[in-house]
Amino acid sequence: MDFGHSAEETRFRDRIRAELQSAPVASELARLRACGEREPDVRDLYRLLGERGLLGVDWPHRHGGQGRTAVHAAVAVEEMMRAGVPDTLFVNGIQTVGKLVLLAGTEEQKARVLPELAAGRRFASVLYTEPEVGSDLSALTTRAVAREDGYRIDGVKIYNLKSDITDYGLCAARTSLEDSRYAGLTLFLLDMHAPGVHVERLDTMGDEQFHRVELDGVRVAATDIIGEVGDGWALLAEALPLERTGFDFALRAERWYETGCADLTLTGGVGSGSVADWLADVGRHGAATRAAALLAWRCVGSADGGRLDELQTSTAKWYASEQAASVARWAMTRYGLDAPEDLAATLDSAYREAPGLTLSGGTSEMMLQTISGFLFAAEPAAPATTEVE
Ligand SMILES: Cc1cc2nc3c(=O)[nH]c(=O)nc-3n(C[C@H](O)[C@H](O)[C@H](O)COP(=O)(O)OP(=O)(O)OC[C@H]3O[C@@H](n4cnc5c(N)ncnc54)[C@H](O)[C@@H]3O)c2cc1C
Repeated sequence: MDFGHSAEETRFRDRIRAELQSAPVASELARLRACGEREPDVRDLYRLLGERGLLGVDWPHRHGGQGRTAVHAAVAVEEMMRAGVPDTLFVNGIQTVGKLVLLAGTEEQKARVLPELAAGRRFASVLYTEPEVGSDLSALTTRAVAREDGYRIDGVKIYNLKSDITDYGLCAARTSLEDSRYAGLTLFLLDMHAPGVHVERLDTMGDEQFHRVELDGVRVAATDIIGEVGDGWALLAEALPLERTGFDFALRAERWYETGCADLTLTGGVGSGSVADWLADVGRHGAATRAAALLAWRCVGSADGGRLDELQTSTAKWYASEQAASVARWAMTRYGLDAPEDLAATLDSAYREAPGLTLSGGTSEMMLQTISGFLFAAEPAAPATTEVE
């Protein structure tokens, strides 16, 4: 496998860096850093990114994109995150909802939704999880009942990010109680400003707040169904890998690793006995962080028509999120209460975010279950028992 970039991709990376250093973007990034809020509203920043073509990089021109490759899109994500762009609106809105509309939406949906998302004028969040249902989405209870002019949706979604500022919500709901728990699911693209959508913030340990979204008789048109009625389970199987490339986690691991290594004058650290121990940690975390990035790149490199391989994405998500959580704990422990002022805020935020990384987008246990399912399925069948003569 070739891990390098072509000359053209390298030039593209330089162009993205220049856009991120342009005066309007740089000053908006500086404003967000200085505002002191744990979760500032980043929509203005995203509008600037959208105007510069940095959001829908690999979407077709006719849908507001730049018509480039998945590798170009991944380069743009790397550079945006390295420049300090908060990534949740991107991961949920562009990478998950937008990509699913691109893969499975009607031409009307693509024309209506994608240019707005790519321009950073409208935003989308993901409404899968319910108070009693997370890992096993086939048990969802939110109901969508057919009406003459579309559907009426009732239920509660929870632990979703950014729903207080998004315009669309990708909502999984049950359209049939008769069919199997898999066949009765359908995906809808809700208008988050519609009557009956009630969004409540929930406090969390991390900087980003969760939301509880109550759907109380929300009316949706038949044109808001993604795919066909009853196709929800099959579409989830396409949508979930989209948020599991591991890029977001690998880039967090990279940032926090650099923070952990930033102050070379402090070579011992809390609980670490010697310089040799510290150097061993630096080497181990450095290699594992790089491995996480390579697993993420492997997902991008082998994408097939925008579709991602479930085994590769589950592996990348599991490994990169575990590594990011581990490096956050290491970096925090290394400095302890002696953290230099310029690093303290990053360490504090990373340490509080770490536990959620191995849960969001599919828990580590579920990723391991998926991986083992593929690996065992790939094993040759055991030879049939022969009678002993
Ligand atoms: C930071 C963060 C952001 C999130 N953002 C969103 C969002 O935007 N939209 C959204 O819809 N949801 C979001 N979620 C919710 C997330 O998808 C769920 O938390 C996750 O899927 C787990 O579901 P659960 O919390 O109900 O836990 P459960 O499914 O109840 O699992 C609890 C524990 O049991 C384990 N477990 C469950 N089933 C099995 C099994 N079969 N075998 C072995 N172990 C098992 C799990 O691994 C976990 O450790 C977010 C969560 C976090 C932490």
